Amino acid sequence: MVYLPTSLPAVQPTLDDRAFWQHCNQQSLRFQACGDCGAFRHPPMPICPHCHSERHEWRAAQGPMRVFTYTWVHHPAHPAVRESMPYNVALVQFPECGGVKLVSNVVDATVETLRVGAELDLIWEAGAEGQMLPRFRLKR
Ligand SMILES: [Zn+2]
Repeated sequence: MVYLPTSLPAVQPTLDDRAFWQHCNQQSLRFQACGDCGAFRHPPMPICPHCHSERHEWRAAQGPMRVFTYTWVHHPAHPAVRESMPYNVALVQFPECGGVKLVSNVVDATVETLRVGAELDLIWEAGAEGQMLPRFRLKR
């Protein structure tokens, strides 16, 4: 069973993040990094905000992965999630990847166990149209 229903709207990749989502479909979490200065960035964008280079590469995400912040959603913003209340939305930080942050969910967390700084493990779940989505579990 997936954390949120697959009847939610599908990811709509853009020119900038299409490669990110393609890597996800191979269950490979990769962040964009500058091809000149090496700085990580997320979400993907065409130009490095540090050195303005247009060169980039896709580097595999490395742990640890930690909860930077989170919220619990109690109001269904879409009819598909009406039965999923409450669910969490977490901002997950990757300190070894320049501190980039990824919006996701911690699938096994409860109101009592989800905490800022909690260490996480990456898991994959299929979303709408089979798009693989990076989600997380609390590290045991
Ligand atoms: Zn750069």
